Amino acid sequence: MKVIPEIAAAQDEIQALRRSLHARPELGFEETQTGDLVAKTLSDYGIEVHRGLGGTGVVGVLRAGTSERSVGLRADMDALPMHELNEFAHRSQYPGKMHACGHDGHMAMLLGAARHLARNRDFDGTIVFIFSPAEEAGNGAKVMVDEGLFEKFPVDAVFGLHNWPGMPVGKFAIRTGPIMGGCGEFKITVEGVDCHAAYPNEGKDPIFAAIQIYNALQGIITRNKSPLELAVVSVTQFHAGGTARNVIPSEAVLGGTARVMELRTLDLIESRMRTIVEAVAKAHDCQARVEFDRSVPPTVNTAHETKLASDVMSSIVGAENVNRDVHPDLGVEDFAFMLQARPGAYAFMGNGFGDHRDAGHGSGPCTCHNTSYDFNDEILGIGSTYWVELARKLLNPELR
Ligand SMILES: [Zn+2]
Ligand SMILES: [Zn+2]
Repeated sequence: MKVIPEIAAAQDEIQALRRSLHARPELGFEETQTGDLVAKTLSDYGIEVHRGLGGTGVVGVLRAGTSERSVGLRADMDALPMHELNEFAHRSQYPGKMHACGHDGHMAMLLGAARHLARNRDFDGTIVFIFSPAEEAGNGAKVMVDEGLFEKFPVDAVFGLHNWPGMPVGKFAIRTGPIMGGCGEFKITVEGVDCHAAYPNEGKDPIFAAIQIYNALQGIITRNKSPLELAVVSVTQFHAGGTARNVIPSEAVLGGTARVMELRTLDLIESRMRTIVEAVAKAHDCQARVEFDRSVPPTVNTAHETKLASDVMSSIVGAENVNRDVHPDLGVEDFAFMLQARPGAYAFMGNGFGDHRDAGHGSGPCTCHNTSYDFNDEILGIGSTYWVELARKLLNPELR
């Protein structure tokens, strides 16, 4: 493991930042204290700070040399609306809010890199440190892009990194092409005619129709798309009826999500869903409508930047610890919007199995979005080193 010695020596400082961020989690677009700490830290390092993009987003700009080249390095800032069950000293101080996805660690790793790069300035070009709000809900990365992130701060390529629980410390994983899923969220409203439960023949039962729709939707996955394409349709909400058990209601609503690796699969799912819903509802004398919202596109890594990133990872942890063709994940990530605008790559980094957690941690697993999760401080130095070496490689022509 080749963690840069100066970064390893700053472990206590970077870890203190991480724990401070962990203790004061803020939800999407509310990251004001978080933004204050990030901005002050960057500014203390001598880095130019810009605030306000995406509301609470923070951008740091560090220049050295004369080259026009530039690179964007991104960390997400927000926490989740969950109540932390850990009881160690750096646990959340805000009831109902928790850094359960490790974005506290992502910010600390990027700040650790900023510290080193600002002190050494051993590169030729511009580094843009991007701290984006509201990754979990709100697509803060998209808001920053829409508000002119890359016009105000042009970059040749942009990179993102997420800790990965269940992957050993010191391992990285990445792939060219889609690495995380795209998402479509849907709401299906089935309208029938209400009636007495004892006389269903006098009404048009929307629950019965909605159940046939629920079942038929899975046929899109098993019969319509190619078995070789990754996709899932999950109905996660089913609402019908009021308080009376003897009334067949007039409406049933299904809600859920479709996850895909390719946008054309989402096209197929949406189009088949509309056909199925309309036809099945009609077969049961009901009316139905579909609202289909394409919330996040797939996160797609470009080949050249993925190779550059993989080579940097290999140089730090050894080629045997870098999976260059990891199986894609159907979770979604708003960094996808940055990769729609610029070439770049998103990667995973091992967070270990949870045995790093301080005494007093909750009894649940150390997995993302779990109330017993904690980011692993042992990987801070590896992550900061990755960012530093990646920036140096992109901004030193002789290293490329
Ligand atoms: Zn998350
Ligand atoms: Zn996350």
